Order: sequence, then C-alpha cells, then structure tokens
Amino acid sequence: MNLQQTGILTKADLVEAVRYPSEERMKKGPVAVCECMQNIPCNPCETSCPFQAIHVGENISNLPKLDEQKCTGCTTCIAACSGLALFVVDKSYSDEVGTVSFPYEYQYSFQIGDKVKAANRAGKCVCEGTIKKIVNTKKSDRTTVVTLEIPIDFVDEVRSIYRQR
Ligand code: SF4
Ligand code: SF4
Repeated sequence: MNLQQTGILTKADLVEAVRYPSEERMKKGPVAVCECMQNIPCNPCETSCPFQAIHVGENISNLPKLDEQKCTGCTTCIAACSGLALFVVDKSYSDEVGTVSFPYEYQYSFQIGDKVKAANRAGKCVCEGTIKKIVNTKKSDRTTVVTLEIPIDFVDEVRSIYRQR
C-alpha cells in the first residue's frame, strides 16, 4: 500500500523521494524533516528559517528542499508550517533514547516530565515518551511545539501524542 492509497506517509516514502535526513546527520544533532509531499503553493518553511536551510524557490509550488548541513534543528519552522508537515528529530541524544519535536494544535494539560503515549503517523500508539519541552510563543500563533523523548528505535516513526477517542 502506498501513500496515494492510504494517505499515510511512511519513512520509506520519504527516503524514496530523497526527503529524509541521512543517518549520519541525525546522529550529529537535531535536524528538520520536511514531510511535505504535495506541490501546494506554500513557503513559510523557507521564509521562517533563520539559517536559510529550506529552499522552495520562486515557484512556491515546489516541494521544500532541506540543506541538512545548514539546519541547526532550532525548531522555528515547525510552528510556521501551515501543513503541520515539519518535524525535528535528534538521534544524538543518547544510545537508548532520541527526541522528536512536532506541532500540536490541541488543548493539553501535560507538563514537562510527564509520561505520555506516543503516536505514529497513522495516530496509533507505538511507545511511551517523556515530555522534554513545550514551546508556545505569541509568534507561533497557537501552534505548540512539543519535544518528546522516546526510545531511539521509534524516532523515525513517532510524530505526535496519542489521542484517545
Ligand atoms: S529546524 Fe531551524 S534551522 Fe532547521 S530548517 Fe527548521 S528553522 Fe531552519
Ligand atoms: S510550509 Fe509546510 S506545507 Fe508549506 S511548503 Fe513548507 S513544509 Fe510544505
């Protein structure tokens, strides 16, 4: 089953489209992942990045391209992305755990240090994580950026917090 059939991205889709950071880069420190696969007219990722690490270009329907060497993993682009398609992953954190930062636009009551259930791109609970950081500034316009510490094997899969119906 591919993306067109399921509507759910996989790491394999991103790797095939050459849109996933290299393992070498992820092990050096936090780096953005642009999970944006539709040619829509949109470029806040490019204009928000203080390090010019994302390129869309004059035709704003181009897919964004990340320069993984320029990216510092600062997370600024996450809240700027209207498609909630930007994440920051970090596999340099330790041998056992890594982090994923993602946009979160629901009400929440969790705090730093809380244990929560972590969800994959399909919204399924895949592991437990610990809230490490919550950023909610005026500039981010109510898009909270949450950083979750999770087992290292799930860094490529976890993209949110599990929400029970
Ligand atoms: S994480 Fe920071 S440096 Fe990297 S692309 Fe996003 S805004 Fe730019
Ligand atoms: S801002 Fe988000 S949705 Fe828009 S082009 Fe950039 S990554 Fe894609």
